[in-house]
Amino acid sequence: MKLILLGPPGAGKGTQAEALAKRRSLVQLSTGDMLRAAVKAGTEIGRKAEAVMKSGGLVSDDIVIGIIAERIEQPDCAHGFILDGFPRTLAQAAALDKLLTSKGTGLDIVIELKVDDGALLSRIENRARETLAAGGTVRADDNAEALKTRLWAYYRETAPLIGYYFAKGKLRTIDGMAAIQDVARQIDTLIGELESA
Ligand code: AMP
Repeated sequence: MKLILLGPPGAGKGTQAEALAKRRSLVQLSTGDMLRAAVKAGTEIGRKAEAVMKSGGLVSDDIVIGIIAERIEQPDCAHGFILDGFPRTLAQAAALDKLLTSKGTGLDIVIELKVDDGALLSRIENRARETLAAGGTVRADDNAEALKTRLWAYYRETAPLIGYYFAKGKLRTIDGMAAIQDVARQIDTLIGELESA
């Protein structure tokens, strides 16, 4: 099973991807997590990405496509993976198609988590509060200013992917405003339908 979770920042992609990966023994591929790890490790990619990530902008297509191309070659991805935060541009989506086609495979489904835009800021603020309460470190881009830039990047660069995958017959949309468990159930229902088709 190869699937994408699509949605704006704060839609719950990471939470759902992590839980789904456990339920289905799939690998969660979050370019955001990979880039944050690169920043922390001080690699060349991390140095290139750090400032743009902090501002809420998008890291260059070349960098993220390179990261994903390398990662999906790893043996643990053979069984399937969940892409969370990738692709974010049409160029990334086209590169992903090309990569998968060259491996004789393709995407099974793209699940869009639809959320009320007005709820996103409070979701991000909650996430920051919960992380602090748990003794963690708040993401450098979990603040109102960077969120504005992240949302802008989403609507300008990523939202066109909804049409792209709809046209390919891969898109399914679910209510991302529901409780975490309900969203998980909606995802399981879609995957179940796919498997029994
Ligand atoms: P995320 O954890 O998915 O919210 O990603 C955090 C940040 O990492 C984003 O705001 C971007 O700066 C960068 N990033 C993650 N994935 C991508 C991607 N596919 N394309 C470009 N930038 C990305």
